Amino acid sequence: MNLHEYQSKNLFAQFGIPTPKGKVVTSPQEAYDVAKELGGTVVVKAQVLTGGRGKAGGVKLARNPDEAAEKAEAILGMTIKGLIVHKVLIDPAADIRQELYLSVTNDRAARKPLMMGSAEGGMDIEQVNRETPEKIVREHIDPFLGLRDYQARNIASGIRLPREHWKQFTDIARNLFRCFQECDATLAEINPLVITGAGTMLALDGKMTIDDNALFRHPDLAEMRDLQAEPPEETRARAAGLNYIKLDGDIGCMVNGAGLAMTTMDITKDVAARMGINGSGPANFLDIGGGAQADKVAAALRIILSDPKVKAVLLNIFGGITRCDEVAKGILQARNEVKMDVPMVIRLAGTNAAEGRAIIDGANLPNLQSATTLVDAAEKAVLAARAAKEAKH
Ligand code: GDP
Ligand code: MN
Repeated sequence: MNLHEYQSKNLFAQFGIPTPKGKVVTSPQEAYDVAKELGGTVVVKAQVLTGGRGKAGGVKLARNPDEAAEKAEAILGMTIKGLIVHKVLIDPAADIRQELYLSVTNDRAARKPLMMGSAEGGMDIEQVNRETPEKIVREHIDPFLGLRDYQARNIASGIRLPREHWKQFTDIARNLFRCFQECDATLAEINPLVITGAGTMLALDGKMTIDDNALFRHPDLAEMRDLQAEPPEETRARAAGLNYIKLDGDIGCMVNGAGLAMTTMDITKDVAARMGINGSGPANFLDIGGGAQADKVAAALRIILSDPKVKAVLLNIFGGITRCDEVAKGILQARNEVKMDVPMVIRLAGTNAAEGRAIIDGANLPNLQSATTLVDAAEKAVLAARAAKEAKH
């Protein structure tokens, strides 16, 4: 789960990292009020879950409350990388002398958290990493020992930070790691971490990603989820207890088990490429889980079909704990409830597969094919999707 800038900076502040004392608002009038309360120049910042807001025109300085209202009016409702701006942060403007970069992520290959620092702050760090990787200083952190002060000083020296800032920098680095660890984050990033004209350090931008699998023990963080900021299908899937991730292909995939779901996606994509059908592939990742009951299957089908890009549905069930006859009942139930004019390819294998197939055959549904192997199922789905698209033209 990604947090907004204002949420990330609130967490940073709780961990003792200096941040601007601004407020998030949803209207120009509120922007006016906050700017007036803060006094002086403010910065109006779009709160959307993506980087590069500055370049996209989502970060603007305002010298007085009237200008703050004007900039808020312009930024609210704006679209940045496909995301609509519903909120803006009004921060007191900082007097920036230098912009630095500081982050903690997990380095899976090293099986340790990794702190990265750079004097090239404020820029796209992926670009710095591609073009001038030597400008990023890295320190792996032993999770049992935490960040040691010498490691923070290694980074300070590596990025040629003037001595007078080392004390503040090591405090911020230590607190950023604590924030990362205690929040069960997979990313905690400050870009830019600035040195102000007055010579103090301030986290001007913040980005945190929290491990979804740890949210159960952070109810306060779980509550921060911005439902406006994720595809509505994903919200509904979570409510139904389904693991769903929207992608941009044309074949809706309904599978039990995460590993089988990934295999199904890979094979579908591979089969489409081999058949020379450009742009065809999985429209989603969806794991209906073990022991899927009829209503869960129905919920999954509704979510898949709500994506207008879906031109065919591929159902791949390996019955173990999940019984194929239960899944088959779910399909019939869903087709009673949801108007379905999209062709469907079904592959059932394992527990009660024969019973499942009998249920589906007995229902005499139009637009339905069964398949025996996964490759066979993928080929049929790719062809069905293409036929559906051609029929439309
Ligand atoms: P991002 O583009 O989404 O990463 O948004 P940031 O919050 O990092 O802002 C982008 C850039 O806007 C920063 O790198 C700064 O150069 C500039 N900026 C942000 N806040 C302020 C501020 O308070 N004062 C000034 N002068 N510039 C700011
Ligand atoms: Mn930034």
